[in-house]
This record gives sequence, C-alpha cells and structure tokens, in this order.
Amino acid sequence: MSRLFNFSAGPATLPEAVLKQVQAEMLDWNGTGMSVMEMSHRDKPFMSIAQAAEKDLRELLNIPANYKVLFLQGGATAQFTYIPMNLLGSKTGADYIVTGDWGKKAAKEAAKYLKVNIAATSEADKFTKVPDRATWKLDPNAAYVHYTPNETIHGVEFADIPETNGVPLVADFSSTILSRPIDVSKFGLIYAGAQKNIGPSGLTIVIVREDLIGHAQALTPGIFDYKQMAENESMLNTPPCFGWYVAGLVFKYLLAQGGLKAVAERNERKAKALYDYIDSEPFYSNPVAKADRSWMNVPFVLKNAELDADFLKGAVAAKLSGLKGHRAVGGMRASIYNAMSEEGVQALITYMKEFAKAHG
Ligand code: PMP
Repeated sequence: MSRLFNFSAGPATLPEAVLKQVQAEMLDWNGTGMSVMEMSHRDKPFMSIAQAAEKDLRELLNIPANYKVLFLQGGATAQFTYIPMNLLGSKTGADYIVTGDWGKKAAKEAAKYLKVNIAATSEADKFTKVPDRATWKLDPNAAYVHYTPNETIHGVEFADIPETNGVPLVADFSSTILSRPIDVSKFGLIYAGAQKNIGPSGLTIVIVREDLIGHAQALTPGIFDYKQMAENESMLNTPPCFGWYVAGLVFKYLLAQGGLKAVAERNERKAKALYDYIDSEPFYSNPVAKADRSWMNVPFVLKNAELDADFLKGAVAAKLSGLKGHRAVGGMRASIYNAMSEEGVQALITYMKEFAKAHG
C-alpha cells in the first residue's frame, strides 16, 4: 500500500484509522449482514449510527441543547440559498462580511432573495486580511450577519468570533470546523460541507439555534426548510447515509484523540511549523496578514512562478500531492486539515527546503 501525503483542499485526506474501520465494516456492519450503504435509513441499525454521530458531534463541539444539528445534502453551496430563504423572516436584508471568494459567492446567491449589505470586504487587498473592525458597517436591522471563518482559497482565518450586537451570526465553517474548540452559543447558525474535516463529500452539517427555524419564506421547498428537516431528524427524505456514518467514525476518532483542545494544539503546531519555514526562506512567500493566517489552508508562492510545474512534479515524486494553488490565486496551497499528520507537514517542509536549495 502506498498512501501519499494528500494536501488537497477537499475532498481531503481522512484519518487512516477511520478508512481502515470503514474497510473492515464494509461487507457486514456490526453483524447486520450488510454494508451501511445497503441498509434502510428507517431501520434500527442506521438509526443507531445516526444518533451516535449526532451525540458525538454535540460532545466534541459542546453544542447547547437549544441548537438543532442537521445532516443535509447539497454542500455548503446549497446553504448559500437555504440561509436567506430560512432566516430572512420579516426583515428585508442581511449583512455579509467578505474575506474571500466563498463569502463573495454566498453574498451573490443571497442577493437573489434579500437585500445584501456588504458590511465589510477585503477584496481591495486581494483578500489577504480580515478588514479592520473599525471599518465594518453592520446594520442593526439585518436578519443576520454572514461570514466565512476560514476562506479556503485565500487562507484567511478569523482568530476570534465577530461581535454582532444581538444580530444572529451565520458562519460558513466548511474548511475549519472541528479544527479547534468554538463557542457555539455565539452563533445563530453554523454550516459546513463535510469533505474537509468531517468525512466524504455529499454531507453538509448545519447547527442552528432553535428560535431561528420556522420562519422560512412561503416558497421554500420542504427539503430546504430547516424546521421540516429538524422535525424529521434530517430524514424528510433519504439522507446521505454513508457520509453520515463515516462522519460519525471521524467524530469518535477525534474524541479518542482527546477532543478539540488536543486537535487544536496539533493544528497550531503544524501551521506554525509551515509558516515559520515560509517566512524564513525568501524563496517562498505567503501574502496573508500574520494575525489572519489560516491554520487549515496555507497558500504560498515561489519566487519564480516558472518553477511551479517543476515544484509540483517533484512533490508528487516525494509522495506529496494536492499542492497546486487555486486558479484564483495561483502558486501553491497546502491544506493541512485535522487528518494531515505532523509527519506530513514535516515531509512537505523538507521537500520545500530541498527544492529551494536546488533552485534558489
Ligand atoms: N465554502 C467554503 C469555505 C468552501 O471551502 C467550499 C468548498 N471548497 C464551499 C463553501 C463550497 O462547498 P461545496 O462544494 O460543499 O458546496
């Protein structure tokens, strides 16, 4: 077997122990004589899988009892639409804080359903920072404030939770959920596509405060309505069963690792090692303001972009994959999600050192 260190932004690397468990349970889950893919979501075996996953996620994130946890489909992109449909209520608009392409996309989609106020954006700075708080123009009458705690493409992460003075805070946690503990009670709604820190693509997690559901616009389809989904325990229709099951294994794995505090310590060490190296070597650079650098996605450019193809080719030979940067920013990007080991980050740094030495 020859597994690579996979730095892909998503779908992304998963804990090997989880993959092995999936493999071991593939043909016969827990004596049922069938795989999880083949069982009815209404029968006891899957119900037990679903409930355990929710319980473990609640424990990991310390989710208060007045929040619903939904296991949905459609990716984070579907939530760009569900959120305005469900949360506008009797208001007319919502605030968006834009620190990268994903926040921009969320705002564009929401603008079909409500009046979007771009309360702050760092686009003029090419999304290399979180805009200074003093410049934010939050509307006290907004239905909600939306932001992206971690922008996957630009590698910009909020170090703390924005203060919105009582307006519900909505956060696209796709690329940073479970990377560190968060105070869920500060949020109205948290959402995340699974394919980075949770499990396979096809599953989307929504954590929503109970009082925010039940106000969907009249035309909202049933399966987009958080209230109907909550009342049906995310099984108004057939849920993404296999992804839900794998997510549950990841949650158990993270609990066994010591929970999110332990996970955060490891993530901080990984990010620090990589940024410290990049900052120490003039051959590479990362443009993001130091205080706003992501623990999960580390974009960097080579001094000479003509070397990009050689860098990527050599990386694959060194068993490092998925390092090509997003086309919007070019260069490289190392996504170092929870399941990327410290050993993997060290292997990347070693390769970067050798490459800089050979080409510097
Ligand atoms: N938001 C963020 C922050 C993302 O990183 C991504 C995917 N990379 C998306 C939204 C879109 O997610 P999906 O493909 O699950 O719709």
